[in-house]
Amino acid sequence: MLLLAGAVYATANVQRNAALKSAREQVASQRLLTAMLDQETGARGFFQTRQQEFLQPLTQGTRAFGSSLVELRSLLAGDSGLQQMLADQEQRAAAWHTATQAAVLALEHGGRVQSDAVARRAKSVMDGFRGVHTAFDASLNQRRSRSLSAATGIAVAVAIALAALLAAGGLLLTRRMARNEEARQHDQSELRELLQASESEQESRGLLIRHVEKLIRGAGAAVLNRNNSADRLEITHGDCESPLRYANTEQMRPRSCMAVRLSRSYDQQSDGDGLQQCEICGGLDGAATCEPLLVGGQVIGSVLVASRKPIDADRRIRLRESVAQAAPILANQRNLAIAEGRAASDALTGLPNRRAADEAFKRMAAHAGRSITPLAAIMLDLDHFKLLNDRHGHESGDRALALVGSIIGSTIRASDFAARYGGEEFLVLLPDTDRDSAMILAEKLRSEIEHAELVGIGAITASLGVAVLPMDAAEPDELLRKADRALYAAKENGRNRVHSASPSAAEVEIEL
Ligand code: GH3
Ligand code: MG
Ligand code: MG
Repeated sequence: MLLLAGAVYATANVQRNAALKSAREQVASQRLLTAMLDQETGARGFFQTRQQEFLQPLTQGTRAFGSSLVELRSLLAGDSGLQQMLADQEQRAAAWHTATQAAVLALEHGGRVQSDAVARRAKSVMDGFRGVHTAFDASLNQRRSRSLSAATGIAVAVAIALAALLAAGGLLLTRRMARNEEARQHDQSELRELLQASESEQESRGLLIRHVEKLIRGAGAAVLNRNNSADRLEITHGDCESPLRYANTEQMRPRSCMAVRLSRSYDQQSDGDGLQQCEICGGLDGAATCEPLLVGGQVIGSVLVASRKPIDADRRIRLRESVAQAAPILANQRNLAIAEGRAASDALTGLPNRRAADEAFKRMAAHAGRSITPLAAIMLDLDHFKLLNDRHGHESGDRALALVGSIIGSTIRASDFAARYGGEEFLVLLPDTDRDSAMILAEKLRSEIEHAELVGIGAITASLGVAVLPMDAAEPDELLRKADRALYAAKENGRNRVHSASPSAAEVEIEL
């Protein structure tokens, strides 16, 4: 716009200067003629009346003629044709002046002058002057038209150049917009494709975060996951170093996030001017925007983006599109994980069930084989459980099972695995654990169960069998049979004890 205004101004200036110069030339030319006519009027008056007062216009005209001549010479500098015509006029004026002046002087000094002859001669010179002057004026007019059309030519050339410039700019802008749109569609379809191929909610969250951080350069993104059962918002960060790292994420509840609470996009004002500050992004430096993850009217979490620079409207719209695309996929994956979790766990104890145990065993046995580390298995069975059920009822039996499940869960390490393997039978798998360590843990379990008081029932006991891969079994499948056999031996030997399935008769019985 500035360029356009500058060009228009410059062109208008060229035209204006050309017009001004032409006007000055014409005024000066007019003055030249007027000065000559003044002189002629003065001379004619003096010849007819011999009165001095007529000499005044003659003198003034002579002076005015001289100054107009000087002005025209400077205005027409460089134009030899017009200078030549000017010189011609000057000569004719000088001739007229010489003849007239001689007659005036003679008359002033009382001499006799043939005024008719002088007047005729002066008229003839004056007619010649007029003729040259008329031609001079015509040339001036031509010069004027030429310079004006040259200025118009410049204006037209500038207009064409500007139009071309604008067209090129428009073309570039259109191309850029098309490229941006193409990039947007590519990013969206890449996200859709990767989300559909993702195997877990966690993987999808990571994808969405990376996509958003790529979309809004320099910003940090996080997914806030709504955990309804625990009434908590769990945060998943991206890899970017972002202001979100310093957000107030301790003790986050779903209500802490304004986007979750309002079920709509929420922008945190950087000046903190809003009516209510978000508990999570309210204290952040710079701009923050939060999109709810909405599925069928339910908010399952939100995507929070924090940036030190303001986030433009276009990026916000694209963020909204991406979040809307990811929300149903995240929800599906979460529901699937919950269903799978339920299918793989035992409702009474909360421990994985036999199906999950068989899968875990395969995985852990393969890992032990690859890493050449021992894998210990403990098979645990409650003693005289049928009796307990018969005496105290099935519900008490259930309470006993739940108690044993929680004792096992709280005694093993995070890397260990425990499952309810059958009715009142439990399996514990201990990776990278030798026989001695497995026996110690089995003994600890036995003792904890024995000393746990069940209200209204009293003490319960369990027998345990321990087997270690590869010492007790050449094949993984054999390991659980060996552990079961050791358990049977513990039962045979009086129950409430631990037996090891050592093939070298080194079975250790820990004295109670
Ligand atoms: P032993 O010391 O030889 O193991 O004797 P036991 O009575 O424990 O052995 P048995 O296998 O004969 O009995 C297991 C009992 O566990 C049978 C069944 O009623 C009971 N049981 C299995 N699952 C459950 C359950 O989910 N809840 C309750 N309450 N009892 C169960
Ligand atoms: Mg039993
Ligand atoms: Mg049993």
